[in-house]
Amino acid sequence: MQKEEQCSVKIYDRRMGACQCQKKAKIVRDGKPYCTIHDPEYIKRKQEKQNKQWDEERAEKQKIYDRNDAMRAATEGLTTEELQKLNPNLVGASRDMYEALKAARAFLTFAESRDNPLPGATEVKNVLEQAIAKAEGNEA
Ligand SMILES: [Zn+2]
Repeated sequence: MQKEEQCSVKIYDRRMGACQCQKKAKIVRDGKPYCTIHDPEYIKRKQEKQNKQWDEERAEKQKIYDRNDAMRAATEGLTTEELQKLNPNLVGASRDMYEALKAARAFLTFAESRDNPLPGATEVKNVLEQAIAKAEGNEA
């Protein structure tokens, strides 16, 4: 490699258009000089690392989907009481959620009755009303 040799990669610069990378070459691959960021081996390693990370994330998400599918299949057709026996924590969480929905509804009732009503308050309150009705077993 010659002294002060420039990286051989053509890059696209928004201002200058297509041009050669201005960085000093640090490595030669198949007879072509490359700077450290354009080194094909470095790029390959970086892509492999990224792909591995994506694969791991995908596998992790798939585990969650599979678990949810299995839970849905296992609990299909059970009554609310039967579900409560299976998962008391879920019932606790549901109760907390129910109380939170009622608190949010009270706030939105206030928000929509102000002189200057909060935009969207009525729409959100309608969604809450439906969820509360469902929780109370009064589904429309
Ligand atoms: Zn370069």
